[in-house]
Order: sequence, then C-alpha cells, then structure tokens
Amino acid sequence: MSADIIDGKAFAAGVRERVGRQVASLKRDHGLTPGLAVVLVGEDPASQVYVRNKGKSTTEVGMHSFEHRLPAETTEEALLTLVAELNAAPAVHGILVQLPLPDQISEAAVLAAIDPAKDVDGFHLYNVGLLSTGGAGLVPCTPRGCLMMLKDRLGDLTGLRALVVGRSNIVGKPMAQLLLGANCTVTIAHSRTRDLDEECRRADILVAAVGRPRMIKGDWIKPGATVIDVGMNRIDDDRPGAEPGKTRLVGDVDFDEAVKVAGAITPVPGGVGPMTIACLLANTVTAACRAAGIKEPEV
Ligand code: NDP
Repeated sequence: MSADIIDGKAFAAGVRERVGRQVASLKRDHGLTPGLAVVLVGEDPASQVYVRNKGKSTTEVGMHSFEHRLPAETTEEALLTLVAELNAAPAVHGILVQLPLPDQISEAAVLAAIDPAKDVDGFHLYNVGLLSTGGAGLVPCTPRGCLMMLKDRLGDLTGLRALVVGRSNIVGKPMAQLLLGANCTVTIAHSRTRDLDEECRRADILVAAVGRPRMIKGDWIKPGATVIDVGMNRIDDDRPGAEPGKTRLVGDVDFDEAVKVAGAITPVPGGVGPMTIACLLANTVTAACRAAGIKEPEV
C-alpha cells in the first residue's frame, strides 16, 4: 500500500485563486480592497524570505500590501507606535508582525497591542480565547490550513481520534482546538509524553508539529491514518548522489517509511507550508469583510 500524497501546493493555489475572486468581487461590489500590513524588525534571512513571499502573494490576489521594515535596534516603544498607527489605518485590515522579534522587544506586548479585529495571525489572547470557546475569531494560519486539508480529504471528522504532537501556541494548541471543534477525540502529545509511539498508533489523524527531523517512524502510524506533517527541518542532504554540503528540508515524520503505512500524507516541502500564506490571505479577506460589515465569503 502507498499513501495518497496530499498536494499542499495545488491546494494552496486553489485557495489563493478563490481569495483572488473574492477580492475582485469586494472591489467591484463594495469598493473595498483588503489590505495587509507586514512588519519585519531586523534582518533575519528566513524572516526576510517569508515577508517577501507574503507581500508578493498579497498583491497577486489583488490586495494592498504594506511592508514595514525596521532596523534590528528598533525599540519596543517605536514598534508599539507603529502598531497603533496600523490599528488606526482604515486601509489596513490585517496586521502581521513577523516573529521572532529582537531580544529588546517583548513579543507578548506587541501581540497584545494588535487590534484583535486585525490580528490575521490569530495570536492575540482575545482570538485565542475565542478559538477555545468556539467563537468566531481569527484563527492561526498554519492550523487553519491543516484543518482545511483534513476536511477536504476526510469530509466529516466527527469521532475520529486525532493526535497532535507538539503543544506550541502557534501550531499545536490551536490545531488541537480546531480538531476538537470538528468533533474529533483529541490527544495532545509533547516532550514529556510517555509511549509516544503507542499514542501515535491509536490516531486516525496524526498532526506532527515538533521540529525534529523524521522523528515519527513508519511503524508508529496506524495503517490508513491521515498524516499532516507541519515540521520543517533543514538537514544535510543524505540521499545517495547528493552533492556534499547540500541541505534539504524534511518533516517531523519519516516520509519514506510513513508513505507505506498511512492512507494519506502531506510531503515536506509542498504540504502544509504553502497553505500558511494562503490562509493568511483568507484571514485578511475575513477581517476586511467584518470591518466593513459585509458577509464574509467561505474559503
Ligand atoms: P515549538 O518548538 O514551539 O514546539 C515544539 C513542540 O514539540 C513542543 O510542544 C515540544 O514539547 C514538542 N516536542 C519537542 N520534542 C519532542 C519529542 N521528542 N516528543 C514529543 N514532542 C516533542 O515549535 P513550533 O510549534 O513553532 O513548530 C513545530 C514545527 O513546525 C517546526 O519544525 C517548525 O519549523 C514547523 N512550522 C511550520 C510551519 C509551516 O508553515 N509549515 C509554520 C510553523 C511551524 P514541549 O512543549 O514539552 O517542549
């Protein structure tokens, strides 16, 4: 048996296309162009790539993109002043402050300062609270993308046993909340979990968000399970014939083993990653519609 490969790249392209159509009709019918502001502090190379890609994707779907690049030595006060300006700017419907921030700035203080109605990352405590109480807040992008792929693959998730490996605030916990909201029976595993392999073997849905290359082995997976691999780990390319010194991205799941056991699996790269930006765009449309009192479209 070989698992179906869940093509996140194609799925995300479909989401971006739908968002593009929604943006076009918001412009045509309501004179509204959703706008996303992305703030980058410092010169972290990975963050620069993320911010560039977010800006490009935003304009590609017809939305306004506002990029703010601040030097690494920016003070917390200066960043909070910018966030306050963006909160007040009518053309800005979504605000994303790229993490991590330099040491002199408190991430918690900055996230708390973002207007929850513009918090397209879904990290503000108000949105975290809404997610855990079943309210309609803005949902973190990566878990939202994972849930969309799961529903597309499995339809109704009611009653399925879901295991989320990882309990971070940005992936593991919101993922577990979303699965609970979809009526799964949810277990959350972490670094102190005992017998993780046994927990994995019980799961109809396995979401791995750990940050440890190929930690989850093929024989930990229940035959036919759906596996969503959020992990993005850069390792030396160990494939036969690879150039010395070359690196590559792998997930938290040992893909080559898991693909022989699972029913469906997301690859790394090309699985969850592309869905994150697509959901950011979808969240910005949602925020813009809510701000304007327009019924928000389904993605
Ligand atoms: P964190 O480091 O914040 O959290 C990792 C979690 O994994 C923690 O809860 C930790 O447990 C748990 N963990 C660590 N070691 C083990 C272990 N041996 N067994 C079981 N659990 C363990 O990471 P993130 O949630 O931010 O990210 C997870 C992965 O997802 C990373 O590879 C990251 O790059 C990737 N990622 C990908 C995105 C995408 O768009 N595709 C977006 C965001 C993240 P404990 O709490 O006990 O320490």
